[in-house]
Formats: sequence, C-alpha cells, structure tokens
Amino acid sequence: MDTLVETALRLRIIDWVQRQAELNGGFLYRHELLSHRIDGMDLPVIDYSRGIRNPQNFTSTLSIVASASGPYDDAESDDGLLHYAYRDGDPWGGDNRKLRNAITTGQPLILFRKEVKNIYTPIAPVYVVDDVPEERAFLIALDESFTFVPDPRNLSVPQRAYAVRLARQRLHQPAFRTRVLVAYEVRCAVCQLKHGSLLDAAHIVSDSEEHGVPTVNNGLALCKIHHAAYDQNMMGITPDYMVEIDSELLAEIDGPMLKHGLQEMHGRTISMPARVADRPDRELLAWRYAKMSRR
Ligand SMILES: [Zn+2]
Repeated sequence: MDTLVETALRLRIIDWVQRQAELNGGFLYRHELLSHRIDGMDLPVIDYSRGIRNPQNFTSTLSIVASASGPYDDAESDDGLLHYAYRDGDPWGGDNRKLRNAITTGQPLILFRKEVKNIYTPIAPVYVVDDVPEERAFLIALDESFTFVPDPRNLSVPQRAYAVRLARQRLHQPAFRTRVLVAYEVRCAVCQLKHGSLLDAAHIVSDSEEHGVPTVNNGLALCKIHHAAYDQNMMGITPDYMVEIDSELLAEIDGPMLKHGLQEMHGRTISMPARVADRPDRELLAWRYAKMSRR
C-alpha cells in the first residue's frame, strides 16, 4: 500500500478508536475492535488470538496489546518508554519484522492496555523508536518527538523526566479511569448516571499526594458535575460512604441542577463496586473528608 494512503487510513482508524472509546468512558470492548469496518471492508483493529495486529497490506504494525496487572503494565520501565518484548518466533521475521519496520516508516500505531478481560484502553498514537536486541525488546514512545531523539536508549535526564511525565498523563490516567469505571459498572457512584462519556474517575486522595495511589480503592466513578463538586469540596463522601453537600450550598436557592443534581444527593449512600477489594478505602475517605470539614 502507498505510504501516504496507509498513513491516512491509520489516522482514520485512530480517530475512530478514540471516538468510540470516549463514548464508552475511555475504553473499547473486544467485540467492537474485532468487528471494525472501514470503507465497507472488515479491518479488525486487534488480532483474534495474538497481542499484535499486522494487517496484510500494511507495511508496519497497526496495534499492540500490553496486558496490565494493577496500575502498571508489563511493558513499562523507569525510563518512561515502553519496552515491548519481541513476539515469539523469528526475531527478524514474522510479527517482529513489521514492528521493526515502524522504526523506519515512523508510522503511528495504537497501544492497547488490556485492563480487564475484554476491555481495552487505547493509547494513540504511539511510535516504535528503537530496537534493543540484547533485551529482545522494542522501545515504544508516547510522543512523536522521541522519533527525533538520536539515541532513545540513552535519554538525557530532562528527556527522561518528560517521558515519565508523559507516561503518567497518557498511560496511567486513562488506565485508572477504565479500571474505576468498569468496577462501578460505568455509573456515577452518587447519582447513577450511566453515560461513559459523562463519567470520570475521581481520586479520593489526589495523585499529587504521596498516598494518592492509582488503585481502584482510591477512586470513585463520578459524573462530571459530581467530580467537580467533589474536587471543589462542595460535596464530600464520609468514611461511611454517605454523600454530604456543603451547608452553604444546601441553603442556596437556584434551578433544577442545584436542587435535583446536588441538594437532593445529601444523605444518600454511594453505590459501590461488587468486588470488596475495589470499594473505596475508608482510611483514604477519612483523610479526604477531614479536608472538606476544615473548609
Ligand atoms: Zn453524578
């Protein structure tokens, strides 16, 4: 396939993946990726059985899957780049050939983090920037600027700091949102709103704090309004899982959003994930709630 045509096609696929993910709440279901069609043709975005998708007429890889256990995935390292292991078989042939091609073509690809069975968080575009034969791994960068770095295997200190910050924004935050939303069955814990595109994963203890870990028990699935109200301390959640609306806000008189959306939530019990380990940690809730009470 002509390079420009291939690039254009990839960008359309990436665009579709991102829009579909946004509709669901930041992730795609396996069946959506497998049944993807473009211009009337079947073009699955992931492979049925392998963690890499190499469409026959593409010069290089379209997507790779990294499985995740907890907040971090199996390809991460402390240099901020992903170290993606060679696929089984011939290191110079098969799937590895098309991954290596991506280094020279510079074609963007999609990285999927498989958070839970059948649920994929897309990170796109990403770029294959180097090959580390002694590690039997490819280096994957989250930003095109790394394709211009002469030796991605030896990043300078500021380059590395940038890569690590990117990983947090483009990898950990979307993954956290997926894991939290899926645990809460894609519903706001306060009002039960169930539109993924209107839901966020709120941190109970902010990730700028040392104990603000990106685990589901430090998260709450909240709609945009309740997330903002929680972050602004207009709404709190007690360690007993009760919703508390700020007293000044409770006394205010305004339209239906204030009345039904906020004031009527006062005193409700939040809905929680089925899995006990995913439920909000009471100590984290208490730490956060104390901040609201001090207002
Ligand atoms: Zn809500």
